[in-house]
Amino acid sequence: MIKTKVPLHWLILFGMGAGVVFGLVAVLAGWHAFTIDWIKPWGTIFIRLLKLIAVPLIIVSLINGISNLNDVSKLSRIGLKTISLYLVTTVIAITIGLLVVNLTRPGKVLPAEKALEFQQRYAANVQNTPDTSAEEGPLQFIIDVVPDNVFRAMTENTAMLQVIFFSVLFGIAMILIPQEKTRPVKLFIESLNEIVLQMIHLIMKIAPYGVFALIAAITVEVAGDQIADTAALFGSLGLYALTVIIGLLLMVFVIYPLIISSFTVIGFKQFIKGLAPAQLLAFSTSSSAATLPVTMECCEENLGVKKEVSSFVLPLGATINMDGTSLYQAVAAVFLAQIYGMDLSLGQQLTIILTATLASIGSAAVPGAGMIMLVIVLGSVGIPTEGIALIFAVDRPLDMLRTVVNITGDSSIACAVAHTENKLDEALIIENKENLYP
Ligand code: ASP
Repeated sequence: MIKTKVPLHWLILFGMGAGVVFGLVAVLAGWHAFTIDWIKPWGTIFIRLLKLIAVPLIIVSLINGISNLNDVSKLSRIGLKTISLYLVTTVIAITIGLLVVNLTRPGKVLPAEKALEFQQRYAANVQNTPDTSAEEGPLQFIIDVVPDNVFRAMTENTAMLQVIFFSVLFGIAMILIPQEKTRPVKLFIESLNEIVLQMIHLIMKIAPYGVFALIAAITVEVAGDQIADTAALFGSLGLYALTVIIGLLLMVFVIYPLIISSFTVIGFKQFIKGLAPAQLLAFSTSSSAATLPVTMECCEENLGVKKEVSSFVLPLGATINMDGTSLYQAVAAVFLAQIYGMDLSLGQQLTIILTATLASIGSAAVPGAGMIMLVIVLGSVGIPTEGIALIFAVDRPLDMLRTVVNITGDSSIACAVAHTENKLDEALIIENKENLYP
């Protein structure tokens, strides 16, 4: 019997393609209800499976990763390097977003009366969106990092930063205690780590089917509901979406290749091919947290990032480093300001850089989170938050794309940090280059 093993990213890609085809056929044949009732749930189950593993994975891999570092000075060095690089790429992303949106000026295309009509029509959607910026002091985002009850934090997928805080503290405490005292816990965590990774392997076996269901449902929903409105808004919203996409492409094809080529020995082609399974999954799930297990696997097995670095840098990045999200927030804020006829001063655009950085750090790594946190960016420069209603229609596809950029950014920094720490397995990179990506 001939045994062929098709790589996972091809299977996922096939699942996506089949999902689009099925979705389009369903729209034409009037299978809307069938698709939502009988196909979509399998996609939801797949996302749930990925999410259920997120909290255990973050806890176990962070504690394991930090306790492997063995001394606090090494941890603080890697930590400082990682966070600085994350901040730099986020600010670059926002700046690119601002530059592109100031050039394309998508908000100037929509006639004023149309803008008003759409704001009113979609205002109902926005009322369900919690206004997180209301009545909060400037330091609230720091307060929010510290859990007052770690078990409660673990029960909410949106409190990842709190779970990270606890895990880092736990790991640091382990380093500070003599090794013979922590050995039982260390062995236990190592063993848990193996089990969690095996669970991820099992879940990923159904990824192509899960992705098929997700994409089929999205195709039906987008084509079914809002096609008329989307067409009416097409000029302006289309240009806005294109602006976000141009910015995201600049990140992936200019900024990350620069990072990869200046800090590592990995070729850009190998980087993208090695990361492809994670990127496809990010696109299908719109969630960096759900994609995290695969991002880690790709970085370790395909790109040669050693576990000590990946297990610290990537969970942190999935939560706080969202280049795609911050770029999108900057573009969306300026787009809405243009629609409302506001001319933003340089000072206001600088404020957007600051608040979009904070808002992207605070965005949970789940679908649509970036749009909710956009409220903070809008509020900071006085743009009416109801404007979010206008960009609802095109948010999902942009969310899919920005999530790809989010995890690509995390991975490029993971490679860079690993290289500077001598934790990039060059032999594996060369072997993969010859065998996997000739
Ligand atoms: N969906 C994005 C992520 O998980 C966050 C967002 O921009 O909404 O990375």
